[in-house]
Amino acid sequence: MSKKDKNPTDYQSNLDVFATKGMAGRAPKFKMPTLESDPRFAYEVVHDELMLDGNSRQNLATFCQTWSEPEVHKLMDECMDKNMVDKDEYPQTAEIEQRCVHILADLWNSPDSAKTTGCSTVGSSEAAMLGGMAMLRKWEAKQKAAGKPYDKPNLVTGPVQVCWHKFTRYWNIEHREIPMDKDRFLMTPEEVLKRCDENTIGVVPTLGVTFTCQYEPVKQVAEALDTFQKESGLDIPIHVDGASGGFLAPFCAPELEWDFQLPRVKSINTSGHKFGLCPLGVGWVVWREATDLPEELVFWVNYLGGNMRDISLNFSRPGGQVIAQYYNFIRLGKEGYNKIHSACYKTAQYISAELQKLGMFDIIYNGDMESGIPALCWKIKSGETPGFTLYDLADRLRIKGWQVPAYSLPSNCEDIAIQRILVRHGVSFDLADLLLNDIQDSINFFEKHPIQVPLSKEEASGFNH
Ligand SMILES: *Cc1c(COP(=O)(O)O)cnc(C)c1O
Repeated sequence: MSKKDKNPTDYQSNLDVFATKGMAGRAPKFKMPTLESDPRFAYEVVHDELMLDGNSRQNLATFCQTWSEPEVHKLMDECMDKNMVDKDEYPQTAEIEQRCVHILADLWNSPDSAKTTGCSTVGSSEAAMLGGMAMLRKWEAKQKAAGKPYDKPNLVTGPVQVCWHKFTRYWNIEHREIPMDKDRFLMTPEEVLKRCDENTIGVVPTLGVTFTCQYEPVKQVAEALDTFQKESGLDIPIHVDGASGGFLAPFCAPELEWDFQLPRVKSINTSGHKFGLCPLGVGWVVWREATDLPEELVFWVNYLGGNMRDISLNFSRPGGQVIAQYYNFIRLGKEGYNKIHSACYKTAQYISAELQKLGMFDIIYNGDMESGIPALCWKIKSGETPGFTLYDLADRLRIKGWQVPAYSLPSNCEDIAIQRILVRHGVSFDLADLLLNDIQDSINFFEKHPIQVPLSKEEASGFNH
């Protein structure tokens, strides 16, 4: 190697990493470097760039886990090499996945929880896709058997997360999404029935609507569909999007009937990485009974001489998150999940009560355990002109590192801006208090320095997911 080819990032082990030559240049942005570099240098560069992401614990927009116990970190590290799809090579990981499915089926009151079926996924989006496909295939089979056309399927939902827009678009299904109304942000049985016909493959209520965090009335919708069946003969299944609520209601609203207790509920999805308290990258879909999953969706794979179902859209996928899910089940039990989530609900209710006292906000949802997830959302009282928008407030709070999303509601309520806080594992009472102080400080700041031109929703970061 000539002197010229010598790696410019070469460091001497006695040098402080910031004193190395490599640190005197820019990180590559468009081309891969020709030469290799020292891991100490490369690590520092990448590590430091990540600082700009901000502090995820202060991200009150995300539903996903931002804190895990040291044992979870350890198991994730031990599972770096586990490929979820290789059920033959990692049979115990496959076995643990099945245990999780049965535990969830039991938690959701499946009549046959030890025998029913389901699988882990990357998240609720993949799980929703699988649940939706099962409904589509079932409906097609029914139409074919009756000699009826099966080219115009439709799906009825309330205001849903984007994964259902993807599902209907990818599979060419007409999406009959019930729009919001000024005083109704959820689906109602009446609105559902207006949209059901013989081409309806299913109805999807959400347990924890993305925009307002509230539970949709699964039981009432199921009852309305029972009556509808008596009158029309049409038997329309329900899939519950329990991305958040699937891991909350069983522990914190045990009286609520939303799951397989209702025979019409045929499948449920949830996100392990949300209130299942796992690191990012795991969702679940479970069918009420094995027969609710059409055989066409199952690929049988050889597994230790036996046969095992494979129902995923993906092939290779990390296994650590599934292992972490099983760890959480053992570690926390129902008691632990209840304690963690109850603490979050209490904190949400506290923040909500404090915001209410400020007088300028209308609390839309206050973190009530029976009616939604540990979160809150609010809007500016109508008629109130505090001199700033919620977008301005979100922007100001970013100065202290808080990410508190403000966004407009979907159709037909686009003109209503709301702000939302997710209270997750690790959003402690003390953190909530610090946030409230910063909200008060921001309001004081706007009084002193009135906003001349308020931020619009286009200018604001407006993330909602
Ligand atoms: C988060 C969420 C999803 C998508 O779940 P991922 O796990 O992020 O794929 C779907 N539906 C609802 C109601 C959600 O809250």
